Amino acid sequence: MEGVRKADKWADFAEQPLPESAEVNGARLPVKWVRKKNLEHFGARQAVFVYESANPHLRLRWEWDARGDAGPVEHRVIIENLGSDEVWLPMIDSLRLKIPVGSDGDLRSLYVEKGADAPSPAGTHLDTINDGYKWTGYSSTYAHPEKVEAREIIPAVMVWDDTGRQAGWYAGIEFSGRTRISLERTGRSLEAILGLNPEPRPCRTRLKPGETFVTPTVFLGAFEGGADGAGNQLRRWVRAVLGNPLTWKDPQYPLLVNNSWGSGMQVDEALALRMIADSRELGLEMFHLDAGWFRGVGDWEPNPKKFPHGLGVIADAAHRAGLRFGLWTDWTQAALSTELGALNVNDPTVKDWLVADVNPGWKPEDFKGQTVDIGVPAAELWADGTLKRIVTEFKLDMLEHDGYLVAQGCVRTDHPHAPPEPSTMKIAHEWGSDFVTASNSTDVSYHAVRAYYRIYEQLRKEHPGLLFEICDDGGRMVDFGSAAHGDYFSITDTYDPLSNRRAFYDTSHLLPAAMLESYVEKWPTPKIENFRYMLRSGMMGWISIMQDTTQWNEEQHRAAKQEFALYKEKLRPLIRDGDLYHVSPSPDGVHWDGIEYWNSANSFGVVYAFRGSGPDDPAHRFILAGLQPGRTYRLHFEDGTAPDDVMSGRELLGTGLEVRLPAPLSSELVFVDQVRQTE
Ligand SMILES: [Zn+2]
Repeated sequence: MEGVRKADKWADFAEQPLPESAEVNGARLPVKWVRKKNLEHFGARQAVFVYESANPHLRLRWEWDARGDAGPVEHRVIIENLGSDEVWLPMIDSLRLKIPVGSDGDLRSLYVEKGADAPSPAGTHLDTINDGYKWTGYSSTYAHPEKVEAREIIPAVMVWDDTGRQAGWYAGIEFSGRTRISLERTGRSLEAILGLNPEPRPCRTRLKPGETFVTPTVFLGAFEGGADGAGNQLRRWVRAVLGNPLTWKDPQYPLLVNNSWGSGMQVDEALALRMIADSRELGLEMFHLDAGWFRGVGDWEPNPKKFPHGLGVIADAAHRAGLRFGLWTDWTQAALSTELGALNVNDPTVKDWLVADVNPGWKPEDFKGQTVDIGVPAAELWADGTLKRIVTEFKLDMLEHDGYLVAQGCVRTDHPHAPPEPSTMKIAHEWGSDFVTASNSTDVSYHAVRAYYRIYEQLRKEHPGLLFEICDDGGRMVDFGSAAHGDYFSITDTYDPLSNRRAFYDTSHLLPAAMLESYVEKWPTPKIENFRYMLRSGMMGWISIMQDTTQWNEEQHRAAKQEFALYKEKLRPLIRDGDLYHVSPSPDGVHWDGIEYWNSANSFGVVYAFRGSGPDDPAHRFILAGLQPGRTYRLHFEDGTAPDDVMSGRELLGTGLEVRLPAPLSSELVFVDQVRQTE
């Protein structure tokens, strides 16, 4: 019942701009929509409004769903071609809202950047929405083709009144293609638009007879308690509704991983076996073989020079050591290998799947070729078969995808997507390859993303325990559509402690911490406290060590082993189940920063405290959240930088928790445990 009530509430604010025209046989026809009440459905968790048009013969469903017991509702528009002609539809927004602005108060919005490439110094944006405010945030899986400096956002936004209960609403998009969210305030009204990015125009999509177009699903929820209030509700909902239940039932999730990329493309059998042995010794839980293992781009067989006995023996060795085995792939890339089963750019069949022809003499990069458009049914079928083979043949427990799964644009006129308008074609050069944006770019991404989701849904069905790492050029595919089709995200492509903390700080506003992976690269650690600082900077969610751990000295080994044991015992349960609070400004590497986890179910939490490089800044107070002012809490300083202590909730929420660290670039974990009434 709650669901329908919520849906009805939102429907009051939602506008229903039904498409006014469509194109049939080159002619633009006005579309007259008639409501079909006999086809509508209003249940406990779903509300469906239905409209039909006679000519062209279309049926439109306007759906609201409440899949979670708590949290946001979801909305989508579905259009089906019931006629016998091909119909061209204009771009249709997922949702348009007009929300009244209260008479007083300070209206705020928050959105966060993806940590793609390297996270920027201020990836969490807090705006004030005054009259005339106008903002648009974009998401795709690429840097902006013309404005590289324009950062993409994780497609979601929160808006709240910053007075009193700090109440408001949030909305986001469950799609990995080209989307945008815009806000515009005019007087006492705030308009929000969410959906596919209509630029460049004219943006349109083809519906063959019997085909269905579905707008990206959007979610919409109400909250109190400012940004962390919204985040704590949204993260739980993502876990409960979008997440894979099997993954969350896995007590090892999020896993402790050892990844081979610290040695780059130089990985081979000897190194892999050495890493597996050391992973076991350190208490890590997965060996992740990164790029460098394959015969060639598009040729996903092990390189016989590096892995003369294949990958099966590596998987077996990992399994014998009690570890899982994960593998990197970039399966939408074609290159020059002529081996059987490889994607070759000159193969006449494959040639037409490419987003554009390659120039004569073209050569792939080490791990990047020319993208095939998986929106083409034959290419989707190839990918489907290839991934099934890789997963089975190499005995995978985890499959990582990287690279450009979703084509940025495509010049082909015989693919399911719209052909490009030549006047809108813009070619950008990246990675030595041609990328195209044109009027069809959004539609190209629409079809490719649908294919990607179908492939992964099928793979998950056939391999229910298989984990999926979502990586797209490091942190470019962080959105709620991929969250529904994978288990964790590579959130940035820069792996030093500060970048890891920045990317985590930003992304954790919107997505469950367990899903946020930090790669921890080799970094100067003259003192053991610097070493722990490096580890912990990547240990607030999912951690993948990206170093040759056999190079660590004895003291570092011992410290790491201790940290990993602590992670399993105390930190991981909080990362999975706790509420998360941003108890400092964005990390800048100079000042202090921190994250608090608090699990109200067992009244236990932790503060990750990081001291930056500032030489004269030995102490900091963190104002905590989530605690009860009338209760008492026991504090335990893991590294012994202060004796254990007892403080009242009132103090911790008021003047705060003081942490003192003598050395710059060091850290502390302060566990907070409520003193029981009987004690
Ligand atoms: Zn195409």
